[in-house]
Amino acid sequence: MWIANTINDLRKHRHALAGSVAFVPTMGALHEGHLSLVREGFAHSAHVIVSIFVNPTQFGPKEDFSKYPRPLEKDLALCQQAGVTGVFAPEPDEMYPPGQPACEVNVPTVAQELEGQFRPGHFQGVCRVVAKLFNMVQPNVACFGMKDYQQLQVITAMTHDLAFPMEIIPCPTLREPDGLAMSSRNVYITPQQRPKALALKHALDLARTMIKDQHITDPQIVEQAMHDKLQAADFAIDYATLRHPHTLARLSVIDPSVTGNVAALIAVRWPNVRLIDNQLIALGSLR
Ligand code: AMP
Repeated sequence: MWIANTINDLRKHRHALAGSVAFVPTMGALHEGHLSLVREGFAHSAHVIVSIFVNPTQFGPKEDFSKYPRPLEKDLALCQQAGVTGVFAPEPDEMYPPGQPACEVNVPTVAQELEGQFRPGHFQGVCRVVAKLFNMVQPNVACFGMKDYQQLQVITAMTHDLAFPMEIIPCPTLREPDGLAMSSRNVYITPQQRPKALALKHALDLARTMIKDQHITDPQIVEQAMHDKLQAADFAIDYATLRHPHTLARLSVIDPSVTGNVAALIAVRWPNVRLIDNQLIALGSLR
């Protein structure tokens, strides 16, 4: 497995590869969820390139950029074990040379609400770094987790609109045995908080039950029940909402003939950690 820290090195390694390439962009602190993206990459391509870069432009001024975990040696060992072809791990100055004029990449509609509302500038930062990485790595496919559901929709929209010559592969969310979605930020959760963190999954399961088994068609009733479930765990709730699965527009009614599926999305905060989770609820069988 090669490791490139500069764009020049990455390009040399990339151009020496024969056969198709899958790309898995990450911020490191790798867990099984990231490794499932690597496995999915190998299902589509001969090679998998992983990037490890804690991207400063996607963090707000009061967010956790400086304390974000950076266990690089452990991450490299996990990549090696997973059979990764090469890792791109640049320093911030390599990605954003000081003095170089910045380019903005916006996907206004899909990126506007939800994370876009509660983390202003976040998706501009994500789109800019991902567009740069796509141009550097030039993969045939890129794997993104449904864990960051809105990010997946934003990147898919950007890839189509800017005609990046690659396919975006959505990958299912990996969870701990009790249902908590795996995340690099789970290390911030205290042992006292840990049982309460399951309220996210429980609220998503409740939404599924209300829609699929109780046939509730008013989104506000389901959203209120999700809020109630989360409030019981002492979270500050950024959002707990049902949305169109691709545009992420609000729904006036839960109706398979209108949306196909429904995306249930949650973001909550404790003072020491912000958690997001989501579930795609298939409506096909309601018809
Ligand atoms: P991050 O390092 O958090 O920026 O995530 C890098 C990629 O891994 C993104 O495409 C995430 O959506 C994906 N990812 C993060 N957590 C999970 C998970 N629990 N299951 C599947 N994919 C994940």
